[in-house]
Amino acid sequence: MEQILNYIGGKLQKPLVDSWLDNYEPATGKVYSHIPDSDVLDVEQAVAAANAAFPAWSTTPLEDRMMMLMKIADGIEKRMDEFVAAESKDNGKPLKLARAVDIPRAVSNFRFYASALQHFASESHQMPGMAVNYTLRQPIGVVGCISPWNLPIYLFTWKIAPALATGNCVVSKPSEITPYTAYLLSQVCIEAGLPAGVLNIVHGLGSKVGQTIVEHPEIKAISFTGGTETGKRIAATAAPMFKKLSLELGGKNPTIVFADCDFDDTVRHVVTSSFSNQGEICLCGSRIFIERSIYDKFKTAFVERVKSLRVGDPNDDHSNLGAIVSAQHKQKIQSYIQLAKEEGGTILTGGEEVQVGGRCADGYFLEPTVIEGLDYLCRTNQEEIFGPVVTLTPFDSEAEVLTMANSVKYGLASSVWTNDLKRAHRIAEKIEAGIVWINCWLLRDLRTPFGGVKASGVGREGGWEAMRFFTEAKNVCIKY
Ligand code: NAD
Repeated sequence: MEQILNYIGGKLQKPLVDSWLDNYEPATGKVYSHIPDSDVLDVEQAVAAANAAFPAWSTTPLEDRMMMLMKIADGIEKRMDEFVAAESKDNGKPLKLARAVDIPRAVSNFRFYASALQHFASESHQMPGMAVNYTLRQPIGVVGCISPWNLPIYLFTWKIAPALATGNCVVSKPSEITPYTAYLLSQVCIEAGLPAGVLNIVHGLGSKVGQTIVEHPEIKAISFTGGTETGKRIAATAAPMFKKLSLELGGKNPTIVFADCDFDDTVRHVVTSSFSNQGEICLCGSRIFIERSIYDKFKTAFVERVKSLRVGDPNDDHSNLGAIVSAQHKQKIQSYIQLAKEEGGTILTGGEEVQVGGRCADGYFLEPTVIEGLDYLCRTNQEEIFGPVVTLTPFDSEAEVLTMANSVKYGLASSVWTNDLKRAHRIAEKIEAGIVWINCWLLRDLRTPFGGVKASGVGREGGWEAMRFFTEAKNVCIKY
């Protein structure tokens, strides 16, 4: 069976202790490769390689660094079909989604930060007649990047690209549930001629590899995307070590539909924002609040459209939803559907497993599920499910919907559907979320800050925010 290898010191290698984990294909429920069950020894080797590479990489001329990142982007693009197939096979997402979103975005991440590094400016402040201060932004050193399974290479590169662009060397860990595209990336880096040790990819478990990265005294910053509980643990370890921390965590995002929205357009988009990637996008809306005067009309149109979604083999271009990422995650989602029933919810559509048959007979498939009749404070409406499950709730006023929307501990993203410009601004100001989409979803200029508030995280990614995160600012004050 194929073995995925670690990428350390410029080489692909087995874990130092010859131990392996199974890598499952969610669509078939079968093991299709093995991944390194790396431990502290592999991380130590990666840190040593990164430390050794840092002096040269951090002083490489910007144009050369830019060209290297562009080459990596080209390398991913050249192997597009392989990346698309691997992303879909590892994660269960429809092949067409990986082709339309995940892999192009990984290419864009490298291109974006390759060009950003040439335009990244630092500030100077004059004290008239006395002195000038300038801000020297320097790479931090060796940094740790840890990513989740839902948008595997998209999120992995979103961290790595700015870290490398700013001159850091990286010790990274992709999710053990979806390691394959990171393995392909290591091959691309070798083909592109990235100097040894600049990027190191250590595969394995969060509790071993991830925890070791977070605890390592020579890793000076941690950029993490994943669950809120893991983020809490990382913060508890890294904060007393005074590490720089960027935490992108869970969400329970509200979708707010006002009666004056463009009805058909809104229904179409809200179906997409609810069930893309099987609802396994941290930005998916999972609590849909609908103004009472259109509640019944919206519910009917929405449910009808959801019923028309096809759950099936990710390789089939007719599938709108593929497989849930793992058997364990599928069980978690099902337990929430059960909870919703116990809490008094009515399942309007979905709620059951899907038997896809054929090569997918043992895969992990669930129907897109719509539930109504739940209190906004119940657990189903407060806890992150991270699957194809949404709730519908009517509201009567702006104040009421804001109370309900802001009632959760999370604050990642939100979307608001209305043609009332003033209202859109009012809601955007008051909603507790790092992102507010008005009449759209998942539309993003990569230059904008990205991230959540409350239990959805601290720090910001995107644009200059990431360039600032991965550099230390030093003030130089010159008296004249
Ligand atoms: P997770 O927290 O279980 O794992 C994320 C990564 O952290 C994995 O690589 C894992 O191996 C590693 N990890 C686990 N324990 C660790 C530890 N003690 N120390 C260091 N690393 C450790 O999350 P997941 O299940 O892979 O991903 C789903 C979660 O990610 C959801 O909550 C989702 O909302 C969130 N997410 C957030 C964003 C965002 O931008 N805010 C984006 C995508 C996903």
